[in-house]
Amino acid sequence: GIVVENVSKHFGSFKAVDRVSLEIKSGSLVALLGPSGSGKSTLLRLISGLEVPDSGRIMLTGKDATHQSVQERNIGFVFQHYALFKHMTVRQNIAFGLEIRKVAKAKVKRRVEELLELVQLGGLGDRYPSQLSGGQRQRVALARALAPEPEVLLLDEPFGALDAKVRKDLRAWLRRLHDEVHVTTVFVTHDQEEAMEVSDEIVVMNKGRVEQVGTPADVYDHPATAFVMSFIGPVN
Ligand code: ATP
Ligand code: MG
Repeated sequence: GIVVENVSKHFGSFKAVDRVSLEIKSGSLVALLGPSGSGKSTLLRLISGLEVPDSGRIMLTGKDATHQSVQERNIGFVFQHYALFKHMTVRQNIAFGLEIRKVAKAKVKRRVEELLELVQLGGLGDRYPSQLSGGQRQRVALARALAPEPEVLLLDEPFGALDAKVRKDLRAWLRRLHDEVHVTTVFVTHDQEEAMEVSDEIVVMNKGRVEQVGTPADVYDHPATAFVMSFIGPVN
C-alpha cells in the first residue's frame, strides 16, 4: 500500500499540500476528490516522485520512498493529456516500457496481447494514436502504464478531457478493470459522482489539507466537515 506521513509541499509561501497523512490499502482503488487548486495533483506527484516533499515521509509497499527517483518507484501513471507516441502503433506504445526494461521479445509480445485484451482493444493493435478516439487513447495509456506490472497506479483525471458519455463508460470500465487487476490505484478527480461510483475510498481535499477519508457511503452520509457537506453532501 501507500503511506503518506505528515507531508507538506510549498511553492514559495503557498502551501499546496499541507501536513497530509494518509494510508491507502494495498489493492484498493482510492479517489482524491476536491475542487480545483486543492492540491490533488501535487499530492499525486509527490507519491510518484515527480515532486519532492519539503517535509514528511512517503512509504510505498513498506519501503521509505521519500527520496527515491520516479524510476526507482514501481509505479505507473496516466495524466489527463497523456500523450502517446504518435509515430508508434498501439502495440509499440504498450511495449515501449517493457523494451526499455530489456524484457525478452517473446515475453513482450505475450504481455502486449494480454494487455490489449484487458483494455478491450483487441482489434486495434496496429493502429496509430491519430486513428483512435479519445477514450481508446486513454485505454492505451492505461495499458502502457500497466505493462511493467507496477505496484501502484496513479491516474490524474485520466478521463477529464473526454465527453460526458465516454467518461461514464470509462469509469465503469475502470472499476471492472480494477476488479481484475487489483493494483493499488489512486485516482484524481474533481467530479463527486465519478469518485462515488469508482472508488473503494474517497479522500476529500480542500486547500492542501485532507478533510475526510472514508467510503463513498461514509462521506455522503456522514460528512465530517462543513466543507465536505457542501462539496458532496446531498444538499447542493
Ligand atoms: P485541479 O483540479 O485544477 O487540477 P489540483 O487540486 O490538482 O487542481 P494542484 O495542481 O495540486 O491542484 O495545485 C494546488 C495549488 O498549488 C494551486 O494553487 C497551484 O496553483 C499551486 N501549484 C501547483 N504546482 C505549482 C508550481 N509548480 N509552482 C507554483 N504553484 C504551484
Ligand atoms: Mg490537478
